[in-house]
Parts: sequence; C-alpha cells; structure tokens
Amino acid sequence: MKSEEFLVGLGNNDSGTREKAANDYVKFWDEQAQSLQWFKKWDKTLDWNFPFARWFVGGTINASYNALDVHQQKNPQKKAILWEGENGDTRVLTYHDLYIQVNKFSNVLKSLGVEKGDRITIYLPMIPELSISMLACARIGAIHTVVFSGFSATSLKDRIEDSKSKVVITADGGYRRGSIVKLKQVVDDAISSLDFVDNVIVVQRTNNQIKLNQKDLLWNDLMQKAKDTCEPEHLDSTHPLYILYTSGTTGKPKGVLHGTGGYLTHLHSTFQWAFDIKDSDVFFCTADIGWVTGHSYVVYGPLLHAATQVMYEGAPDYPNPARMWEIIQKYKVSIFYTTPTALRMFMRFGNSMPESHDLSTLRLLGTVGEPINPEVWRWYYTIIGKKKCPIIDTWWQTETGGIMISPLPGLETIPLKPGSATRPIPGVCTLVVDETGKEVSADTKGFLVIKNPWPGMLLTLWGDDEKYKTVYWSKFKNCYYSGDYAIKDSDGYLWLLGRADDVLKIAGHRIGTAELESGFMSHNAVAEAAVCGIPHEVKGEAIIAFVVLKEGVNQNESLQKEIVNQIRKEVGPIATPEQIYFVSKLPKTRSGKIMRRLLKTIARGEQIGDVSTLEDGAAVSEVKAAIAALKKSIHN
Ligand code: ATP
Ligand code: MG
Repeated sequence: MKSEEFLVGLGNNDSGTREKAANDYVKFWDEQAQSLQWFKKWDKTLDWNFPFARWFVGGTINASYNALDVHQQKNPQKKAILWEGENGDTRVLTYHDLYIQVNKFSNVLKSLGVEKGDRITIYLPMIPELSISMLACARIGAIHTVVFSGFSATSLKDRIEDSKSKVVITADGGYRRGSIVKLKQVVDDAISSLDFVDNVIVVQRTNNQIKLNQKDLLWNDLMQKAKDTCEPEHLDSTHPLYILYTSGTTGKPKGVLHGTGGYLTHLHSTFQWAFDIKDSDVFFCTADIGWVTGHSYVVYGPLLHAATQVMYEGAPDYPNPARMWEIIQKYKVSIFYTTPTALRMFMRFGNSMPESHDLSTLRLLGTVGEPINPEVWRWYYTIIGKKKCPIIDTWWQTETGGIMISPLPGLETIPLKPGSATRPIPGVCTLVVDETGKEVSADTKGFLVIKNPWPGMLLTLWGDDEKYKTVYWSKFKNCYYSGDYAIKDSDGYLWLLGRADDVLKIAGHRIGTAELESGFMSHNAVAEAAVCGIPHEVKGEAIIAFVVLKEGVNQNESLQKEIVNQIRKEVGPIATPEQIYFVSKLPKTRSGKIMRRLLKTIARGEQIGDVSTLEDGAAVSEVKAAIAALKKSIHN
C-alpha cells in the first residue's frame, strides 16, 4: 500500500486518552458519558448480553435536553442553524428559537395522543422543521424514523408500515433542482391503505396547492396554539431514540435501532475529537438528515456542543456546481464535511469554480460514505483546503451510530496518508481478519471486524433480533462483522477497500474495488469509475470497468489504451480490465454510493432485484445500453 505523502494533522496530543481507553474501554466510556447531563446516574456502565449491548443501565437522560436546554440556560442567543434554501430563502435560528420551537412541537405531538415509545415517520426536506420534529420526538420519548425525502411512495410506505408509525410529518413540497417535489402527495399515496396512521402534519414550505384530507393538520395552526414549555421526559439510557433504514447499497435496507445514552455519549466524544469543535466555528455537513450522517452530525452531534451550523436545503450543484463554494464563502464556514461522491462531482467541473470563491475561512475538511480515492483526497487538500486544512476521512456505518475510524485533530496529532482513515477512535478495537477470523498480518487484505461493543452501537434491527444476530454477529466468533474489506498497513493505518461482497478474485488474488477504482481515477481524464467482476474461464473473474470522463473530455481508442496503461502501472498487470465502458453517470443509491452489486448483475445478464434505493434509473439504462452495444459489435 502506497503512503508516499505524509501530512501532519492538528491537535493537542493527549496521549493519556488512548492509554486509558486501551486499559479498560468500559471505564473509559463511563468517564466520557459524564460530559452529558443525566437526570439520574447509571448503576451499570455496560450490560453485555452477547450480542446485545446496553449502555449506562439505570441512568436517565433526554437527548433534546442535552441538545437544547443546557445551551438555552447558558447562551440562548448563540446561533444554532444558518439555513439556506435552495431558492435563496434564508432563516437563522438561535438556540433559544430552537428550544421554543421544539417545546411547542413536543406539546403538539402530545396533544395528538403521541406517547413514549410511539413511532413517528418524518418525511421532510432539509428545513429546520426536520431537526425540530426529531428533537420534539426525543423530548417526549417517541421514536423518530426519518425517511429521505427523495424516496418514492412505495419506499415510504414500506418504512411507515415496518415501523407502524402513528403520525407522519411532511411538507407541502420541497425544492430540488429548481422544481417543487410534491411530498404531501407522496405521503397520501403511501398511507392510502394504512389505517394505523392517525394524523399527517404538513409544514408549508413552498405554499403550493395541496389537498387536505381528514387526517391532515397544518404545522403552523398547531404551533400557534401550543404552549412553549414541555418538560423533557426522563428516559432510560437504553430507551430507543430512533429507527433509521440503511442506505441499501448491498440489498434491502435494514431498520437500525439506536438507543439514547450510549449513542449520545459516542456523538459527544467523536464530534469533539474528530471536528475539534470550537465556540467560534461554523460547521457545515452536506449530508441529508435522511441518512445517518445527518442524524449524528447535523442534528445530535453539533447541538450537543452548541455549535453553529449551516443547513442547506437543495442539490449541491444547483443552480451551478459552485453552490457549495458560494455557501462556504457567504457563511464563513470553517469545518466542511461531505462525501467522496460529491467531491468527484465538483472535481469533474475543474478548479476555476472553487478558485473563484473565498474559502479562506476553512480550517478542517472531512469525508464520509465511501472510500476516498487518493487522487480526490489530494484535490480536496490542495484546491479546497489550500494545503492548510487537515482532512478527516471518517469511516462508520448506520449501525455504528458515530465515527469509528478517523484522524482526530481534536485529540491528537497524526500524519495523514491520502486514502487512509488512519486509526480507530479510542475505546474501539478493530481487527482485520481472514475467513477463519484469524488476524491477518500487516499489508494483507481481510475483513474488518470490531472486537468489543461501543456506545453508539445499534440496539438491534427493528423487530428482527434474529436478523441482527445473523447479519452482524455470526460470521466471526465474538466479533461484529462490518461487511467491509480493509488493510492495516505496517504503520497500523487502516485502508478501507469497499464491501467484502464486491471484492474481485482474479487469478487467485483478491482485489478490493477501491484499489482498482483509484487506479482508474489516477488518470487525469477520469472523473469517476466503478468496477465489477464477471466470470472468466481462466482467471476465475475478469474486471469490467464503467468510467465517467471529466467535463469536455471525449472518449476514443487511444484514451482507452492510456487508461489501461495507467491502471497496469498503478495496480499491476493483473488489474488489466477485460472491458471498459464509458458512461455519463453511474448507478448510485440516493445517498450517493455507487451500487456495484447492480453493475455486476447487469454485466452478468442476471435479473435486477430490489432497486428502491436507486437515485436515477437512467444510469441503469445507460449501463445496459453500453453493454448491449458492445456485445452487438462483437457479434457483427
Ligand atoms: P446497506 O448496509 O443497506 O447495504 P450502506 O452500508 O451503504 O447500506 P450506510 O450505513 O449508509 O449504508 O453506509 C456504511 C458503509 O459506507 C460502510 O460499511 C462502508 O462500506 C462505507 N463507508 C462509510 N464511510 C467510509 C469511509 N470513510 N471509507 C470507506 N468506506 C466508507
Ligand atoms: Mg451497510
């Protein structure tokens, strides 16, 4: 594994923390939990009834109290949310404003008969009412389940049905790429046959025409009448805070259930360590709250720390691919957290857009969601961060609740390597193992597993303990199986290589998709690449690649040859692709992850399964057409 560049992160070098955590992780997390405000202290730090972990048992706490009341008392006028609508509308909410809104909305939910433990589905665009709804649920002990507002009626229905939600919160519409997405209509379709939904609450974001049914209530009407104080429930630390369905990159989404005390502890600590948050910072995470990144690092993490953050409603490239740079300039953003997929898109449009904006307020950059190709990492570091901002590549999952592997500038100094997420956080022990569960030696590929429970760990899969056991705890003895493929290099740095299911086995060698795709990306004409394997008589599996070129580059035979040479040089002759297909977009989930399992299915001519989480069906048609055209030309 190459580690040619060493770049130093910022930090305080508090080595005592790591030492403490290594000595006794339970005691360590016990100390970390004390940074939160508890109504009653716990009797037992960890109840580990394999594979079910319950943290801070006997303690009582409230997420909204920790996110709002504590700041409302100390610094009510501090800005919490700087909201930017896609159409240019703006709103500013202080901690006091947010506190009042959440209290009022808690009373609204109570007046509708919502009780502790009831499920509430939230299907809203990125507007402050989304955070307000979640925090109000948390305040009264209702379990929120946020569904990304890009999902169709069928996907929404599945999730409302699975969670048996009593109330659905939505909007008359949301702005996306200049047009209005009719969310209320989607909800109507989704619940038409669900008799257990008592009410639908509608936020008027766009003021477009909507049909109000008997169950429907308007947010503003309800809020006007509501009292502005609502005592936070004293909830057990293990009380469920939310259900969130995973991105569905590998198949049908899973209903991940998170608790309260452990989850908040994990977020409180990681938000500080990873983002090194200061009172003066302006934090901007581009993730939609419909994904776990938004739950943990738009809603709970920043609010626990009384941070000021930018919340953006729309598409990152609307009305043009400079929108993010405009926002950073306008709000003087100091910490920017985004995804490799977004970065590859920005990169595709060249350097002039970021270079014509003032990005000098940035001091820390982060990424999450997929492996970041070293090429993209360098671009982020140089063009966006001007070589002065450390990059935190944060690996984690919906199931882990919070960041698990990442550089931690708020805690320590660590030299960075482009493409490596570095080391696990203190209190978390990861291993890279072979099929039999034995730890592999340095620089060898294997499966990423986690040895002990951690506070942000999921409680279970909603309504399916058995599946929870099989998916995460049955492949390797006594370890949590992440489903990802990784390498630990000789310096102890972790390199995440994509999903184990996507690994290619070529002539006896196992190659991760991330390595291959980064090889393609190292050619300067390539904006994005995805690889998959097809059966091959001699090699076992052969590589086929789908390549998106940068803006203004045209495909031709000599470019194809150049790209092949490049990958042979970068990864080795073994990585020579059997076929390269040029396409204008790749099939991705709605959270922006490449769906390689879909490419594999199409390339092998198999039946396409569940694609409810697909972003854009056109990409699939394009991939199919590219393959068909080539097959035809071979036959002729
Ligand atoms: P599903 O589990 O339903 O297939 P998903 O795994 O895509 O969906 P998420 O929980 O949103 O759903 O994503 C977690 C996954 O994202 C990780 O398992 C890993 O594959 C990938 N990932 C996240 N962050 C990183 C990172 N920094 N580097 C490499 N991969 C990452
Ligand atoms: Mg997953």
